[in-house]
Order: sequence, then C-alpha cells, then structure tokens
Amino acid sequence: MADRTILILLGPPGAGKGTQARVLADRFGLVQLSTGDLLRAAVAAGTEAGRAAKAVMEAGGLVSDEIVLAILKDRMAEPDTARGIILDGFPRTAGQAAALDVLLAQKGEAVTAAISLEVDDAAMIGRISGRFTCAGCGEGYHDEFKRPASPGVCDKCGGTHFNRRADDNAETVAQRLKAYHAQTAPLIAHYEGLGVLEPVDAMQDIDKVAAAMGAIVARVAA
Ligand code: AMP
Repeated sequence: MADRTILILLGPPGAGKGTQARVLADRFGLVQLSTGDLLRAAVAAGTEAGRAAKAVMEAGGLVSDEIVLAILKDRMAEPDTARGIILDGFPRTAGQAAALDVLLAQKGEAVTAAISLEVDDAAMIGRISGRFTCAGCGEGYHDEFKRPASPGVCDKCGGTHFNRRADDNAETVAQRLKAYHAQTAPLIAHYEGLGVLEPVDAMQDIDKVAAAMGAIVARVAA
C-alpha cells in the first residue's frame, strides 16, 4: 500500500472536517476515516471500547490514545482504503501523531498532507449547535447554513430521519474546544516540521473551502 494518499484534517470541532472529508472522499475515491464516527459506532454497539469511551465523549474529553489507535489501526488495514484515506478527527494528541508516523513508516508510508482548517473559535459554537445529519446516508445539514431543499427530506438519499449528536450542546462544545487547543492545536507545528502542512481559510463558504482543499489534494495526491 506504499502509494496510498494519507490526508489529515486538522481543525477545531465545527471547522467542517466531516463535511469536507466527505466531499474529498467522493471526488478523489478516498475513504473518510472519522475516529468520532468509529467511536460512536462502538458506543452504539456496546463493545468494550465503546463502554470505556462513552462517558469521556459525553463530557467532551479525549478518549485514551490506546482505544483510539486500536480502533483506527484495524480500519486502516481494510482493503477499501487501498487508494487512500482522509483522517478526520485523528490524530488529536502528540502521542497519536507519533504513533501514526510509526505505523505508516512500518509500511513505507507517510502523511501526504495535513490540511489545517483555520477558523474563528467564536463562530464554532453557532456552527455546531445547529447541525444535524441524515440518519440514512450521513449527509450533514445545518439549521441556518445548509437546510435540506425540501424540509425534512435528505437532498442526497431522500431519507426522512435525522440525527443530532448528543455532544453538540454548548457545555460539551466548550470542553471540546478546550481539548482542541490544549492537545490538538500543537500538532500543526508537528506537520509543519514534516513539511506537509497545508493551511486553508475555513471561514469561507463550504464550496469555496471545498475548492481550496480539492486543489491541494489534486496537487499532492498519488
Ligand atoms: P468528533 O466526531 O471528531 O467531534 O469526536 C467526538 C468525540 O469523540 C470527541 O469529543 C472525543 O471524545 C472522541 N474522539 C474522537 N476522535 C478522537 C481521537 N482521535 N482521540 C481522542 N478522542 C477522540
């Protein structure tokens, strides 16, 4: 798998990592790997990892590196990731970044690009508190910025059931932003040091951000 494209999306909660990862995955044939989604699936399935992660996630803290790495490692080895992956919400700590570098190096791989979504923190609470996703296909929406064209019906799959995340409340969001600044923001310097950092102004419209990110991926992807 030495020619895989390995993209990392960095940015605080609400920056648009999930939305943009989906767009890039569709356009470039890559697989979006969201550790948040993998953990939520583990919580819903009631696995040992899920039971350990549940309370931490509800409080807006970070799940242990050990659990996150175990979940991610398995998923990264699956055959559908052969063209490449977009890591959304991982790594989030220096330990995770170091573990990823080692894991990739063992397979002759390295991070292709770390795209840093630059946003104003103050706007993130509003972006997060209005968001919801289609229960059928996962398409993301927002009460203010992106409503379904026909109310209550998913534009993409026609589904009529939507989910709001339990941790998208003001109190938990404040904790998640704190965790981001304390533990994840320092990774920007790590990827700058590796020469793979690609900053993007993520306060622009979703389509403009997608275009800027697409141009980066078109330039760097294998
Ligand atoms: P997200 O969907 O990326 O916003 O993640 C939701 C929650 O899952 C976070 O607030 C953390 O509790 C947990 N989580 C997701 N990814 C990680 C990670 N890489 N390391 C630690 N905790 C994580």
